[in-house]
Amino acid sequence: MERLTLSESMIASLRAIQAKQMAYYDDPVLRDHDAVVATYGLGPAMYLCLDGRVLILDHDEDDPAPVETDDENDLRIISVIMAKRHKMTDLLTTYLFPPKPAGASECRLCSGTRWVQDKISCPLCRALGWIAADNAAS
Ligand SMILES: [Zn+2]
Repeated sequence: MERLTLSESMIASLRAIQAKQMAYYDDPVLRDHDAVVATYGLGPAMYLCLDGRVLILDHDEDDPAPVETDDENDLRIISVIMAKRHKMTDLLTTYLFPPKPAGASECRLCSGTRWVQDKISCPLCRALGWIAADNAAS
C-alpha cells in the first residue's frame, strides 16, 4: 500500500509528538500502531504511523478499528494537517502536491491556501490549492 515517505528528521519529530500525545490522550492506536494522531475532529480520526502508513478510524462504525488508506486524497489531507499543526512542511513537497499546471486556476474556495476558515482542509481542491482547467467550470 502507498504510504508517506518520512525522512529521519521527520521521524524524530514524530517521536517527540508521539511522546506528548501519549501523555495526553488515552488512545491505544498511538501505541498499538506506533502512530501519532493528526486529527480527532470533523469526520473520522486520522493517524500517521512512524513507518508512513496512514490510518483512518471512523467512530461512527459499530466496532471502530483503524483501517489503512492509500487514497491520495487522504494522504494529502494528513500531510497538510501535519504541516500546519506540527510544522512538518516537508510533507508539502512530495509528489502529492504537484505544482499548479498551466491553465489551472487558483482554488476559489481556499484561495490557494489549502484551508477553509483556517479549520478544515479544502474539500474543493482537495488541499492542492488549485483546480485543473477541466474542472474549473463546474
Ligand atoms: Zn481549495
